[in-house]
Amino acid sequence: MPTVACPKCSSVNRVPQERLTDNPNCGRCGAALFEGRPAVLTAANFDRHANAELPLLVDFWAEWCGPCKVMAPQFEAAARSLEPHVRLGKLDTEAEHETAGRHGIRSIPTMILFRGGREVARTSGAMTSAQIVQWVRAQV
Ligand SMILES: [Zn+2]
Repeated sequence: MPTVACPKCSSVNRVPQERLTDNPNCGRCGAALFEGRPAVLTAANFDRHANAELPLLVDFWAEWCGPCKVMAPQFEAAARSLEPHVRLGKLDTEAEHETAGRHGIRSIPTMILFRGGREVARTSGAMTSAQIVQWVRAQV
């Protein structure tokens, strides 16, 4: 039974595989576990999401980064395609530079795919939503 962290309260929920597509809600706060858009990741909730059994795809971005802005709507679209089988999240590398530094982010945008707290794959440079979906599906 995969574990998944709530985008609102960060509680870890157990959701049976067959119920993932059933618009599951958080057992603690009642929020939708999947909103069809990337979760906002911070130092406070990053590990909860990364340690979950559901794969987590993180977009490491910054406000000043042109290619990051180009990719933002593509990443949003990828969330609609990949959820609820993958959690997507965005980490602002300026606001959360410690978390970005811990993952050795040298250029942005960089995407890292995590599963059960471990890095599975990473790629740098902007991608279209189709390329993001294809890349993730090749890893999980
Ligand atoms: Zn919750």
